[in-house]
Amino acid sequence: MSRVTTAEVCVIGGGPAGAAFAVRLARLGHDVVVIERSAFPRPRIGEALAPSIWTVLDLLNIRDEVAQAGFVRVEISILRWAGGVDENVSPPPGHFGLMVDRGRFDAILLQAARKAGARVLQPARARAPRARPGGWTIPVESAAGELLVEARFLVDAAGHYSNIRKTEPLAGPSTVALSGHWRNTRLAPGPNRIEAGNSCWYWGAPRPDGAFCAMVFVDAAQCSGRRRREIEADYRDRLTESGLLRDCLHGTLDDGVRLHDATPHQSAVCVTENSIRIGEASFSLDPLSSQGVQAAMNSGLQAAVVVHTMLTRAANAEAAKAFYRDAQKDTVERHRVAAARHYAAVAGTTPTPFWRARAAAPVAVPPMPLPPPPAFAGRARLSRDVRIADVPIVDRDHVTLRKGLHHPALGRPFAYLDGVDVETLLQRVAQSDSLEMLGRELARDTSGERGRRLVSWLVERRILVASE
Ligand SMILES: Cc1cc2nc3c(=O)[nH]c(=O)nc-3n(C[C@H](O)[C@H](O)[C@H](O)COP(=O)(O)OP(=O)(O)OC[C@H]3O[C@@H](n4cnc5c(N)ncnc54)[C@H](O)[C@@H]3O)c2cc1C
Repeated sequence: MSRVTTAEVCVIGGGPAGAAFAVRLARLGHDVVVIERSAFPRPRIGEALAPSIWTVLDLLNIRDEVAQAGFVRVEISILRWAGGVDENVSPPPGHFGLMVDRGRFDAILLQAARKAGARVLQPARARAPRARPGGWTIPVESAAGELLVEARFLVDAAGHYSNIRKTEPLAGPSTVALSGHWRNTRLAPGPNRIEAGNSCWYWGAPRPDGAFCAMVFVDAAQCSGRRRREIEADYRDRLTESGLLRDCLHGTLDDGVRLHDATPHQSAVCVTENSIRIGEASFSLDPLSSQGVQAAMNSGLQAAVVVHTMLTRAANAEAAKAFYRDAQKDTVERHRVAAARHYAAVAGTTPTPFWRARAAAPVAVPPMPLPPPPAFAGRARLSRDVRIADVPIVDRDHVTLRKGLHHPALGRPFAYLDGVDVETLLQRVAQSDSLEMLGRELARDTSGERGRRLVSWLVERRILVASE
């Protein structure tokens, strides 16, 4: 007979997404169990963190632990992209990203989940969850034998590769990363390096253990059916063609070349009435952004508020699910468009199939640049294209509905504009006799200058038009 334990919420996977989720949900007072199959520290791809990671670490209260962990500060980044000219894409002075050891970084996160009150079963491997009335049964294998976790809500944080769900078909060209760790290279220590090649792109950075990580991103077809030896030879050949990374070849390669699927993906269903997918179990971004870990943690933090709402305010459950779906779609689309633009820039100068296929990923059409709106100063009204309808937003710890302003010039509706809610905006527009007065009225909620800027912003987008 298997042992049985109960939990309100069961999280499968203790990577950045699962740990961030568990920290937030446990702090909101829920009974959370996390199942992680590997003993930490364990190696993991995805070690470069942008300077914006510090905001997320602050939310989780682990800035000091991460700052003291001996990771490499990344203060300089060089990009040799379209046209082959080096661009300095370093963060502004005083800001820096990190090259972390994911084994240790993930251990710090999971420890924070424990401190917040989550129970962590590790190393313990979840098998396919089974739906049962009122929730889920998750069979778990560990050295202590089989355990059944019975939970009301299930969180899939098992990453890209998973034994608990079917992989979904990919859209667009498939990319593989060939990755190697080099020692005793002639590379100058310091900067992260990104470079466009003829039919690949390169990424390299120094690791906390003193090795240098050099990756080559190639079309997946280049690797299929080839032996490891051939793939390593191809990896070395490509490095000789790189201006920024070829000096690796003067060093020695630790443990050969590793292959990683680097194709972005998105799951069709990210949330149901009693389950949610977070991090790479839900979507993966093009590694060009170096934002995968942060996006995974953000999705975990958002999901915690969504699940908290679903468990405590049933009336808002649909709004919570809609919020999560929109947030995931937004993140994926923003990164997809940014990556396709970068690929298109290189395709312009290097029109090989590698770049053309990636640049061709459909890019959302940016709003047409409109001619300046007709000048007016008198009474304003909202354009007939404006629609007012509820939108789900996060209000502290819950998802809730607020009146939102929808308009074709906006990528997505807003419920607040610079601190002014839509209801107040509607009232002030109805009561003001001139744009000047509207600016002053809105300034009761914002500063005077911001009130004026807000009015110009609305006029430029033709959300506010002259009243006939
Ligand atoms: C080539 C490449 C380069 C990348 N470079 C970067 C980068 O520079 N910067 C960056 O931010 N991101 C990068 N990424 C993305 C980054 O690796 C991921 O975004 C990140 O690891 C996702 O975190 P996660 O928590 O969703 O999943 P994971 O980190 O994969 O964590 C999932 C966890 O679930 C556990 N698990 C899986 N199945 C089970 C099971 N059945 N039972 C129990 N536990 C289970 C695993 O052991 C693992 O610990 C890169 C990705 C690739 C492919």
